Amino acid sequence: MYCPFCGAEDTKVIDSRLVADGVQVRRRRECLSCKERFTTFEVAELLMPRVIKSDGTREPFDESKLRSGLQRALEKRPVSVEAIEAAISHIKHDLQTTGEREVPSRLIGERVMDELRELDQVAYVRFASVYRSFQDINEFRAELDRLEKKAAQTGESK
Ligand SMILES: [Zn+2]
Repeated sequence: MYCPFCGAEDTKVIDSRLVADGVQVRRRRECLSCKERFTTFEVAELLMPRVIKSDGTREPFDESKLRSGLQRALEKRPVSVEAIEAAISHIKHDLQTTGEREVPSRLIGERVMDELRELDQVAYVRFASVYRSFQDINEFRAELDRLEKKAAQTGESK
């Protein structure tokens, strides 16, 4: 790393330690040219990408919005708060590991549907009906048909 004082390319680390409960590395460096010392902090960057809305505008990722969307779909459904929180952290983890700075809101909607499909079919249909209504009504009908058939099949097998 370049020296912030003289711009020399060679600086050496003279001390390195974990700080902030191990989530940061603090390094003392010394410039080999001007002998000035300075400190750097290193943290893993796990930023949430910004969200590209369907009208093209960008907004910061909003976890509370994600949570309220899930809660609305899961209202009066037998799903624990822990399961909802786990779903939220799955979605956040996926978004962080895309490595993208911006993701379309559609991608988040799809991930929410994936999680809800696992958690609760009723909540899934509720969410999908609201979410998909404006973009692909046929796809939604096909999904409903599929669910109805599945329900009928499991009903018969009992
Ligand atoms: Zn220097």
